[in-house]
Amino acid sequence: MWAVAGAVLGLLAGAALRATVFRLSVAPGEPERTACPRCQKPVPQRLAVRCAQCRTSLGTPLALELSTAIVLALLLGRFGGQPDVVAFGFFGVLGVALTAIDIAIQRLPDMLTLPAYPILIVLLAGAALVGHDFADLARALLGGLALAGGYLVLALVRPGQLGGGDIKLAGVAGLALGWLGWPALIAGAALGFVLSALVSLALIAARRLTLRSEICFGPFLLGGALLSMLASGH
Ligand SMILES: [Zn+2]
Repeated sequence: MWAVAGAVLGLLAGAALRATVFRLSVAPGEPERTACPRCQKPVPQRLAVRCAQCRTSLGTPLALELSTAIVLALLLGRFGGQPDVVAFGFFGVLGVALTAIDIAIQRLPDMLTLPAYPILIVLLAGAALVGHDFADLARALLGGLALAGGYLVLALVRPGQLGGGDIKLAGVAGLALGWLGWPALIAGAALGFVLSALVSLALIAARRLTLRSEICFGPFLLGGALLSMLASGH
């Protein structure tokens, strides 16, 4: 039941995300995209699949809808009926949007990562109130600090590998993973690096990448967090 509800909600949320992902898929410092990249016709506020004038596709059709449906089906199937289901549903939708933007232009916009902190903290605080469990909330806050701090150290030790967006996103993932417990946080963080290494090796083997290329890290950070959330026993 919960998984089906998640899939339906995910299709709707994915459709709603398309405009946001299109708007924010710009290089740092550039204004948000509001017009068709080919003919400059302004795009509608919501649900643009193709430019009305030149028919240029504005993003891959159905990709966001289907990936959000899968992610929300998994997360609601796992957390459905628990007070923290809204917080994890929010994290899933945010994660799909950030993954799409990071793959498109290798960045994680502050416009999405920064507001996610207060939103996720409020949602987790609500879950803590309902569940009368404030130890989880305290651990979530510490988890956010710990993961953002860990990524900051990694970025300082190996410059060029991780960006500021990765550090900010790590804090958001740390909040959600910390809520589930320290083992979930450690597993989620480790899985991100494992996934990244596996995909890099596969791409190098397929000669799509060299040892010196940089690939975006956001999707792996989020993928590792998602796997850990689904496996956690909280
Ligand atoms: Zn156009």
